[in-house]
Amino acid sequence: MRKKIVAGNWKMNTTLQEGVALAKEVNEALKGAEPKCDVVIAVPFTHLASINAVIDQNKLGLGAENCADHKSGAYTGEVSAPMVASTGATYVILGHSERRQYYGETSEILKEKVALALENKLTPIFCIGEVLEERENGTYNDVVKKQIEEALFNLSAEDFGKIILAYEPVWAIGTGKTATDDQAEDMHAFIRGVIADRYGKEVAENTSILYGGSCKPSNAPQLFAKPDVDGGLIGGASLDAESFMGIVNAF
Ligand code: PEP
Repeated sequence: MRKKIVAGNWKMNTTLQEGVALAKEVNEALKGAEPKCDVVIAVPFTHLASINAVIDQNKLGLGAENCADHKSGAYTGEVSAPMVASTGATYVILGHSERRQYYGETSEILKEKVALALENKLTPIFCIGEVLEERENGTYNDVVKKQIEEALFNLSAEDFGKIILAYEPVWAIGTGKTATDDQAEDMHAFIRGVIADRYGKEVAENTSILYGGSCKPSNAPQLFAKPDVDGGLIGGASLDAESFMGIVNAF
């Protein structure tokens, strides 16, 4: 059975001290709780080791928001997958639309990042999603299919089975505009079909596909009730422990 997951993406927010305090708050909230999903926070590189020291990763998984497409060497300012793993983190978000849009991340680059993440036992949370124009001109299924094919379909079935997907329509990220539960379900079911065509039904059924884009405690229950929506990747609402826990408890 595929896992249900709620993962926070803090993006470039919080100082180290604020981030540690927020992680402690989420960790505390999870202590007595029995959530019906895995819970993960993806945080800035600078926070990883300190947060690892104050959370119980049996209850709250820890991830980075990116990693480099090289293992080591003369790449000033970059942070590699082995570095991320050495902090105690076990997840990494890859291919977020902000990385694709502002930092020119292509499928070729993402393919390298995915390989390095897997080599270092990091679970990629791999983001895909169309921009508004593609939603409006009806090419969104093709766009998402291409993103998956180009960056992930070189993987063996075993390695593909280690990937978590996050469908994030770019027009819904940070805009307050959520995809409807039916729009999300249609896309998630389509993605599962694309995976089934390449790797078979069993791999497709076991792949967790998260929804991301203005997910809040108020809309999470409808989204998560859909059969192919296995949880959420949460930006803005993950910066407040109460609202993040409200989404976790939507399951
Ligand atoms: C995200 O960037 O991963 C995201 C889903 O952001 P928000 O929830 O703020 O739309």
